Amino acid sequence: MIVVLTGAPGAGKGTQADLLVERQGYKKISTGDALRNQIKGGTELGKTASQFMEKGELVPDALLLDILKSELSAVAGHKVLLDGYPRNLDQAKTLEGLAAEWTVGKAIHLDVESKQLVERLSGRRTCLNCGATFHMTMNRPEKEGICDKCGSGLTQRPDDEVKKVQTRLTVYEKSTEPVLDFYRSKGVYVRVDGLGSTEDVYSRLLEAL
Ligand code: AMP
Repeated sequence: MIVVLTGAPGAGKGTQADLLVERQGYKKISTGDALRNQIKGGTELGKTASQFMEKGELVPDALLLDILKSELSAVAGHKVLLDGYPRNLDQAKTLEGLAAEWTVGKAIHLDVESKQLVERLSGRRTCLNCGATFHMTMNRPEKEGICDKCGSGLTQRPDDEVKKVQTRLTVYEKSTEPVLDFYRSKGVYVRVDGLGSTEDVYSRLLEAL
């Protein structure tokens, strides 16, 4: 069974997914992380995907299908969290067409107002090595510019620049919000208030699960 973790960019999906992995034994599939790994590895897929990602646009569905299938086969038999997929109706239908093992049991919508999202994303700094995230004001690393977890340098993701953030939020409203209705109609949609401390949101999330 799959739990889809959905919500706007900056809603905290990655942070909450990591906690569920750590504390509840879920396996996480993040299509954003998988794509960034392709870029890091210098693959053809990564090169094509980065042209869309840098602009804050969605990567074409066809490029994601093989990634999704290979990530799913690597976690067969586990309870799985999908972070960042599906991001449009076609992807939701693709997911529905996969084997029964990958039925979506719940689609959790981490809901955060858009003003907060811009603040969270534009102040976010990410570790190039381990992917841990920090924030310039809300979650500062102990040493400026250095990851607390692995000691590598922190950077701003190219798509976290203010202008790209606006594009990503527009893409979310246009393409991903219809996915919420899709899961509402399937009876698996649950809204979770994404405002508040990481632990507060985590408690609500656990209750929803
Ligand atoms: P994320 O790390 O989830 O914020 O994703 C970063 C970027 O990767 C997005 O802005 C998209 O360009 C791309 N991406 C990730 N997941 C998907 C998806 N399911 N469909 C299309 N593009 C995606």
